[in-house]
Amino acid sequence: MLESPRFGYSDIVSSMARRYDCWMQSNPPQKIVVIGGGIAGLSLAAAVRDWAEVTVLEREPHLGYHASGRSAALFTETYGNRLVRALTLASRQQIVEGGFVAHRRGALHVGWTGDGAAIDRLADELQALVPSVRRLSAAELHALVPAIAIEATCGGAYEPDAVDIDTGKMLAANASALKAGGGLIRAGEEVRAISQDGGGLRVETSGGVYPADIVVNAAGAWVDVVAGLAGLSGLGFQPKRRTAFLFDPPAGTDIASWPLVVDLHEQFYFKPDAGRLIGSLADETDSEPCDAWPEDIDVAIAVDRIEQATTMRIGRPSTPWAGLRTFAPDRTPVAGFDPRLPGFFWLGGQGGYGFQVSLTLARLSAALMRGEPLPEDVAALGVTAAALAPDRFLVPATTL
Ligand SMILES: Cc1cc2nc3c(=O)[nH]c(=O)nc-3n(C[C@H](O)[C@H](O)[C@H](O)COP(=O)(O)OP(=O)(O)OC[C@H]3O[C@@H](n4cnc5c(N)ncnc54)[C@H](O)[C@@H]3O)c2cc1C
Repeated sequence: MLESPRFGYSDIVSSMARRYDCWMQSNPPQKIVVIGGGIAGLSLAAAVRDWAEVTVLEREPHLGYHASGRSAALFTETYGNRLVRALTLASRQQIVEGGFVAHRRGALHVGWTGDGAAIDRLADELQALVPSVRRLSAAELHALVPAIAIEATCGGAYEPDAVDIDTGKMLAANASALKAGGGLIRAGEEVRAISQDGGGLRVETSGGVYPADIVVNAAGAWVDVVAGLAGLSGLGFQPKRRTAFLFDPPAGTDIASWPLVVDLHEQFYFKPDAGRLIGSLADETDSEPCDAWPEDIDVAIAVDRIEQATTMRIGRPSTPWAGLRTFAPDRTPVAGFDPRLPGFFWLGGQGGYGFQVSLTLARLSAALMRGEPLPEDVAALGVTAAALAPDRFLVPATTL
């Protein structure tokens, strides 16, 4: 008599393992090499970790050394052009659910005597985008930020729901998620060459060689330089220096509830930061990609402008720093494959909005890499793949 076969738990597990091995042989995970350990590269790496073998390569000894370690950490839905605002709106839920909101800060655009009509227009324009925006009178503005005298201002446009982001937590959370998913981070390794290798790509660094199906160019101020390492011309990205510093609030003043205060004409801004104030010239000085350094004159001008506009006396500011905000020619980020080199993916031009847009850019980039449509919530806000694609800066061959 034939005995009926008996399957135990271990048989089922090993049969599943065999099937998984078989499936893996015909569908190996994509190898993705991400160049750049700032928020752009890390958020993308975390977003693809479930279906790809990911390695992040960062030239500096630690992550977030350049722009991502130097930001003012604000999330504001009224900042930037239409697409930037859409990308920001689409990021809010993930920023909140990720626990990355540090403080409900608010953002206040201040007008001065003579600016009344301009502030009215700005308040209307911002309110159409973000209904919670309010026009503040001079007295309301002074009540919110007593360092601005009633007689100096015509009031402002106030966005109460702007928040401070915990940028350190955001960088760390994305790095941890990547590592938990088996991804690798190689800090202190500079990418030196990118070439085609069979059907894929080959990335050479100061420390080794990495084969890749997809190479993500998330090199911040160096995106065009990195494209050059692959033999591609750049897209015309421009790094722009922004200077900031810390100063003490007026003695005895509770600044915890002050919003970010930005001059209507973008001549300066200041905002509370851990009991002190960050001041900035709101400068956008063209720069080569580099380890940006503050110029004394930029700090001095910012101090003077803030002192002229408020009752605060800053004296000697401390800890000045500068960072590069890198923009594409149309000031919209770039996310997409380069049609000139299969597998080469651009993720650059986060400008002054990298933290507020990065999670959405990472999500939609992951979809593009898999040949899927953009996430529905992002598309519903009017974002298209074409509007973000590098192709918009490439001259079609037929017109050459
Ligand atoms: C003063 C200031 C205030 C800002 N305020 C805000 C704000 O309030 N809100 C907001 O959302 N954004 C703000 N930003 C903008 C934000 O910081 C940037 O948009 C964001 O950090 C860009 O991230 P990134 O990853 O593209 O670039 P980066 O953080 O610069 O990362 C790119 C990385 O690529 C690495 N790299 C380059 N070349 C190579 C190579 N060959 N090999 C290996 N690695 C390489 C670099 O070392 C670098 O670490 C501010 C920026 C500045 C400077």
